[in-house]
Amino acid sequence: MRIAETVTFGGSALNRAAELRGDAAGMAARMVDPDAGFLPIWRGKPLFTNAEQDGLAWLPPGHTVVAGGEAVFLGLEGDAPRFACDVSDWEPEELPDTLGAFLDPSQQRHPDLPGAEVFAELRAAMTRMTPRDAELAATAKAVTGWHDSHGHCARCGQPTVIAMSGWQRDCPACGTHHFPRTDPVVIMLITRGNKVLMGRSPHWPEGMYSLLAGFVEPGETIEAAVRREVWEEAGVKVGEVGYLASQPWPFPSSLMFGCRGEALSDDITIDPVEIADAIWVGREEMMDVFAGNSQRLKPARKGAIAHFLIWNWLADRLD
Ligand SMILES: [Zn+2]
Repeated sequence: MRIAETVTFGGSALNRAAELRGDAAGMAARMVDPDAGFLPIWRGKPLFTNAEQDGLAWLPPGHTVVAGGEAVFLGLEGDAPRFACDVSDWEPEELPDTLGAFLDPSQQRHPDLPGAEVFAELRAAMTRMTPRDAELAATAKAVTGWHDSHGHCARCGQPTVIAMSGWQRDCPACGTHHFPRTDPVVIMLITRGNKVLMGRSPHWPEGMYSLLAGFVEPGETIEAAVRREVWEEAGVKVGEVGYLASQPWPFPSSLMFGCRGEALSDDITIDPVEIADAIWVGREEMMDVFAGNSQRLKPARKGAIAHFLIWNWLADRLD
């Protein structure tokens, strides 16, 4: 797919400068470089310049909000080093009960930031961010989230320590190295002639349908995962499968593989444990859905690769 990388979080060719990660002394010097910028992440929420979330807010070396936190080296913007810093230990005066919800609308202001900066949900801003900000924020959120949930060795259970400028954790007890995990997920545009297969999860808002999706299992190809998931969830056999586009999805650590597949039959038999419903939607009806003129269906969420794939299927731009 020629426009694959225009998807939200599709990448901005950030210079990750991975060759610098192993140089601890050099990295220590970069962390006090006057041009260095630190992006604080509080409980999964990046710091934005203002409540409208117009851009990411970078703090200078030594700023009290990021002082003492462990930094992850994100890369270089020109010569300027960029770091992410988890500041989740900070306790605001008020904790919203939406924290950790699917879409948390709350914003937090830190008392040591006198400007308009707020911690806010990445989902709320992702479709408006520049590709560079989106890549930096997705990377920062995914890696700091991994550190937060992988403090102990999966082999021996002992506490692990951060290494390689934040891109590794080492176990001092047994010597095992641990690397940030990325979970592969297939999401598929399954078509039969002029219609597309859509499904809905049990707890989604009324009328919301999206493309079927599921985790790739160990020992499985992407193509096999597409066929297995569609068969398990909707009872539809799929023939030819092709890759379209990928999307890093840091909620918390997925990599979405957008695929297309040709259904070999029309009949749908859903697995009620996995999904609440599955239907075929014709191209004309889907155009109405995206135009907001459908009483029956709501369009897939903007920013998600499902929206991107359906939109470009309608526009005949999957080539
Ligand atoms: Zn260990």
